[in-house]
Amino acid sequence: MALKIISFYKYTEIENPEKFRDEHQSLCENLSLNGKIYIAFEGINGNVCGEEENINQYKNKLSSLKGFENIIFKEDEISDYVFPKMHVRVKKELVNLSIEELTNEKGGERLSPEKLLEFYETGKDFIVIDTRNSYESKIGHFKNALQPEMKNFREWPIVVETLSEYKDKTIVTYCTGGIRCEKASAYLIKKGFKNVYQLDGGILTYIKKYPDTFWHGGMFVFDGRKVVEPNTKDELKHTANCELCGNPTSYYINCHNLDCDKLIVCCKNCTTKYNYCCSQKCEKSPRKRERIYE
Ligand SMILES: [Zn+2]
Ligand SMILES: [Zn+2]
Repeated sequence: MALKIISFYKYTEIENPEKFRDEHQSLCENLSLNGKIYIAFEGINGNVCGEEENINQYKNKLSSLKGFENIIFKEDEISDYVFPKMHVRVKKELVNLSIEELTNEKGGERLSPEKLLEFYETGKDFIVIDTRNSYESKIGHFKNALQPEMKNFREWPIVVETLSEYKDKTIVTYCTGGIRCEKASAYLIKKGFKNVYQLDGGILTYIKKYPDTFWHGGMFVFDGRKVVEPNTKDELKHTANCELCGNPTSYYINCHNLDCDKLIVCCKNCTTKYNYCCSQKCEKSPRKRERIYE
């Protein structure tokens, strides 16, 4: 039986998030799905894996609900369950930007993967901006992308302050699946940027269509796979180096010393060699994380 992971979001009003959450948790459990789904007054965001047939049922059910008619699912095949459990949680906002009045603002014009490819191939004068966190962009990003040093998305308004020289330029923002760009691009427009696009379907959609082109390195994912590596050309495979041995890699770990928990780029060799820790000191710590996937 084929296993699939789907990733989706939709900004749409949900009147009673708690009730919606409870119904959703049972729906997913009945279909033996695992994953993480977030519900807010402003919509839904999720990554879910399961057997293809059940995933299809889930997709049909969700798209049949009022307000969710045009929801887009990004799909991938997987060889194992990449989430240990099913969690449906209520959040205040889908992505934490904490700018209340943005909810109803319009985001930048959607740029298809085809168009982005064309921008690159024709040498168009444009600025591409990674709206993800720096630990994500480190292991992979679009060619020539600006990679702001963000620890989390709440820092976006501070980043935008530093971008004022690009106000009249063509800007393309991108993130993993598109959800952060809806707000990131809306915020740019609000701040007076004139020519703002957001990559439609995010990196997920682009790398599936056009691997080995203008995406360099791996893509950080928030599930058991950790990294998706779309490229086959050696020179495009990795943008980062193992922080322990220096070899090129797109793999990363959270140090398994619970008192450290540092996220470091770490090749698979060093991962085993240092027991999922960032240093020999951490390796000796008595408080270690349990291994779920590795
Ligand atoms: Zn290494
Ligand atoms: Zn450590």
